Amino acid sequence: MAAEIQPQPQTRKPVLLSKIEGFQDVVSTAVIIPKEDGVISVSEDRTIRVWLKRDSGQYWPSVYYTMPTTCSCMSFNPETRRLSVGTDTGAVSEFILSEDYNKMTPARTYQAHQGRVTVVLFVLEIEWVLSTGQDKNFTWHCSESGQQLGTYRTAAWVSGLQFDVETRHVFVGDQSGQVTILKLEQDNCSLVTTFKGHTGNVTALCWDPVQRVLFSGSSDHSIIMWDIGGRKGTAIELQGHNDKVQGLCYASHTRQLISCSSDGGIVIWNMDVTRQETPEWLDSDSCQKCEQPFFWNFKQMWDSKKIGLRQHHCRKCGQAVCGKCSSKRSTIPLMGFEFEVRVCDSCHESITDEDRAPTATFHDSKHSIVYMHYEPTTGNLLTSGTDKVIKLWDMTPVVS
Ligand SMILES: [Zn+2]
Ligand SMILES: [Zn+2]
Repeated sequence: MAAEIQPQPQTRKPVLLSKIEGFQDVVSTAVIIPKEDGVISVSEDRTIRVWLKRDSGQYWPSVYYTMPTTCSCMSFNPETRRLSVGTDTGAVSEFILSEDYNKMTPARTYQAHQGRVTVVLFVLEIEWVLSTGQDKNFTWHCSESGQQLGTYRTAAWVSGLQFDVETRHVFVGDQSGQVTILKLEQDNCSLVTTFKGHTGNVTALCWDPVQRVLFSGSSDHSIIMWDIGGRKGTAIELQGHNDKVQGLCYASHTRQLISCSSDGGIVIWNMDVTRQETPEWLDSDSCQKCEQPFFWNFKQMWDSKKIGLRQHHCRKCGQAVCGKCSSKRSTIPLMGFEFEVRVCDSCHESITDEDRAPTATFHDSKHSIVYMHYEPTTGNLLTSGTDKVIKLWDMTPVVS
């Protein structure tokens, strides 16, 4: 069922600080440099650029480097100023940036994949470069020796990758919609479990090592919060986008999740509330409220001489109900439904105005977002769009 979000005017919203333009193609990944008014971008136009804010308030490139091929992804480690860039040919190229961000020196290239590198992640604590490619391989290399340590074949090509340093678990989100959890050893890895909940590709993953919570975003417009630290197998759904989820960032200091979608929507979720799991949908041959038969229930239709009805489900209690017994709609924010969904008449009566208080705010970035990065030290957010523009936002009015 297609449900439309009714956007309410927000008084507090992200403030657009700057735009960075001049790309010949889409910026596949860009990050804000912490403690510096700077941005690093890698683009489909083959360029790696470092942008520093000048006295004029504009961002100008201090590094402009052209790669032999398209840059598909990137990982930047601020402590070592190491930049790992994934490319279309399957190579991961490493660079070291100078302290003043005016110079970039090539360090090493890993022949990691047979096709486009989809995600690269450098883990300083263990000196590993993790990467995934369209060849459906997940590989990890030692960044000290340059050697490949291991590889794992994934079910589909991977679009989200997160790593828990403490326990050395890797979370791999793929195009089949599942998240695979692997335990990594030095040179081998073992399958721990898989999370299945999305009906579309996994497009983004975000791991919060403090609360031990994994967020997954999908092309099915939904986000799922997998509560690993809670140890109860809880999975909470968040429905607040009308298009493919493209990015997820967690502000752990305020317990807010920032998500964005390809229609330009940015949603800020308050995760400091006790949320409820959505119920399983119950099966019944007749309405669980008025007991009228559903249309496949020929026996009861014949016996009671009644025409069968369509089956619907109440999003709050999960009961199978007819259209007449579920004519009303409501938001259920604590179940993640920030837009109105079908509820049965008795649930509708039980939902109070207080229950309907939104737990998220909705904003419009006014470009189709392909990538997003949040920097908690400055409170700034970066969005990169299909319009080949990077936008920088002050999020302090809404993330605080
Ligand atoms: Zn009914
Ligand atoms: Zn109900």
